[in-house]
Amino acid sequence: MLTTEQRQNRETAVRFMQAHAVPQATAWDEQGEIPRAILTRMADQGLLGTFIGTGQGGRGWDALSFGLLCEQTGAASASLLSILTVHSMTLQAVAQWGTPEQKQRWLQSLATGKTLAAFALTEPDIGSDASNITTRIEPEGTGYRLTGRKKWISFGRHADVFLVMARQDKLPVALLVPRDTPGLTVAPMTGLLGFRSAGLAEITFDNCPLPAAALVGRIGGGFSHVASASLDLGRFCVAFGCLGIIEACTLDAVVYARRRRQFGVPIFQHELILELIADMITGAKSVRQLCYHAAALRQAAEPESILETTVAKYAASRTAARVAGNAVQVHGAMGCSSQTRVERMFRDARICEIIEGSNQMQQLMIARNGAAEYLREARRLEKGTGDGVGA
Ligand SMILES: Cc1cc2nc3c(=O)[nH]c(=O)nc-3n(C[C@H](O)[C@H](O)[C@H](O)COP(=O)(O)OP(=O)(O)OC[C@H]3O[C@@H](n4cnc5c(N)ncnc54)[C@H](O)[C@@H]3O)c2cc1C
Repeated sequence: MLTTEQRQNRETAVRFMQAHAVPQATAWDEQGEIPRAILTRMADQGLLGTFIGTGQGGRGWDALSFGLLCEQTGAASASLLSILTVHSMTLQAVAQWGTPEQKQRWLQSLATGKTLAAFALTEPDIGSDASNITTRIEPEGTGYRLTGRKKWISFGRHADVFLVMARQDKLPVALLVPRDTPGLTVAPMTGLLGFRSAGLAEITFDNCPLPAAALVGRIGGGFSHVASASLDLGRFCVAFGCLGIIEACTLDAVVYARRRRQFGVPIFQHELILELIADMITGAKSVRQLCYHAAALRQAAEPESILETTVAKYAASRTAARVAGNAVQVHGAMGCSSQTRVERMFRDARICEIIEGSNQMQQLMIARNGAAEYLREARRLEKGTGDGVGA
């Protein structure tokens, strides 16, 4: 059940996406670009900083309202969702770990969308094994020099500032690097399976001079504090975005199955089609519960919210890929054509199983952290009964 305020916030997101994103999303996908004007419109409505307090340029929305915005964005355009995601990840890092000076310089500007941000962790040779990134800083004078390469950076083509993960010697660091920093170059990436209008780029840092004030959090806390909080929010965004993909695909499949006739009846009357649709509806309803649960824990700042968000992202991305596949199947040849949005969603959903940590990385995290709960329970039962679990 949503509160009145959450319903209103959801309605704001629905209205914006229906007016400005849903009708354009396939054209953006074909052009490989989302016009900056759309992001400016989102910014004008405060939709790029909803979870930041009103005194700091945001809208003060709760976690579920932000999730509902991600759901509606994902239903409209996964590329737009990815821009919202990486911008929010940087905003979160500044809000949580920024010094008063960094907040003064960046927080309001990011929350109002005047400045747009991207998140740069992955490198050409380092993806899942993120603790072994090679991008590095070396102290120089009162600041640093930054050297390295980042790849697959969503919105890298256009972002005004990058939250860059690097190392000083062996210690992980996070840095805010403005686009106009000398030595920073951007090479657009094309030819992607999905997220085609997310503005992906490869970023090279060639001995870039940075002031000491570029450092976010402490030296050594780049992963354990800054990146982990940003990635937690990123998974939250992707989980809700996948919910949007699932709902949109299910809607289109149901409508198409009622209209399309084969063997003299709507294909909705064929039981094997109903089986696909039942799977889609069940997927939508179960993922919604996982996402709402993660949002409630996030809002309450419960430590379990990290695990529950990972579970939600893992389940949502797997379900989105399966449901989008079902939707293509229900549409037959039409599902293989850009005349339907399920074709784009099928490609985009597959990518959600790789970004913000691949599903294998999510599985490792869920099994390791989730198992601890069960081991605690086993010890409790052992103590209480004197019997081993399963005895
Ligand atoms: C569209 C798109 C947008 C992206 N946007 C960004 C962005 O904005 N910023 C950013 O920093 N990065 C971004 N990425 C990169 C993304 O985060 C990485 O692709 C992801 O972390 C996986 O890394 P990798 O591709 O190098 O795969 P690899 O790490 O090379 O893994 C390859 C395969 O091996 C599996 N694997 C790896 N290690 C293990 C293990 N220990 N056990 C089991 N399986 C394993 C992986 O799950 C995967 O299936 C983006 C990627 C895409 C496709």
